[in-house]
Amino acid sequence: MSIRIHPVKAFNDNYIWTLINESNKQAIVIDPGQAAPLIDYLEANGLELTSIWTTHHHHDHIGGVAELQEHFPMTHLVAHSEHNVDEDQTIKDGSTVSAWGFSAQVWDIPGHTASHMAYILDIDGLKHCFCGDTLFSGGCGRVFTGTIEQLFESFKRLNGLPPETLLYPAHEYTASNMRFGLSIEPENAAIQQALSQAEEKTAQGIPTLPVTLEHERAVNVFLRTDKASVIAGVASKTNLEDDKPLTVFAALRTLKNNF
Ligand SMILES: [Zn+2]
Repeated sequence: MSIRIHPVKAFNDNYIWTLINESNKQAIVIDPGQAAPLIDYLEANGLELTSIWTTHHHHDHIGGVAELQEHFPMTHLVAHSEHNVDEDQTIKDGSTVSAWGFSAQVWDIPGHTASHMAYILDIDGLKHCFCGDTLFSGGCGRVFTGTIEQLFESFKRLNGLPPETLLYPAHEYTASNMRFGLSIEPENAAIQQALSQAEEKTAQGIPTLPVTLEHERAVNVFLRTDKASVIAGVASKTNLEDDKPLTVFAALRTLKNNF
């Protein structure tokens, strides 16, 4: 038995990552902001929804939960106590969630929000990390109810995963993030290549995700705050008090807010 992972598109640029067990036709979804596109997909493929996992409380991640629970009454809802849903299993950092005999480790990676969960699912030794709105390909989430210090620490923690780990962010922001990355590191060939690939895929409606952590280390300036080229790029646009990674990270987030 193996698990297939499929993105169901919602709103303009959300992905509802769907774990599919082909042998029993069951599905688990992460962050269903909308129910309709998911119900269409599940029914077209003869799948029964058995679990919902949420990363954080924003509407575009939980908006479809109630309707899905009504449509699939046996659905088991996994969430943190701050996610504003009526969960069956309350999770926190260090919890384990199971998917047909495979297990997902739960990490709290705050910053975008005060509590933000990541689900790190191990399938035959390869890790699949559902990271919500914390890390996007080439970028990071905005700081809402968390702090920039928390987001920085969460990035450090994600960066400690094995390089081949697959990352599954909840939004298609890749092309715009790569344009921002090039404004900081214009000579970075990996970002140049990632931008042209993202533009090509986006034009064809193909997701640019998932990505490996190894790829992100080459193209995501928020993971590159110790690189001389990133420090120089930030310093050319804004006044840097020092070149500590947290200072550079915070300055990058502010520059991106106005990009
Ligand atoms: Zn969010």
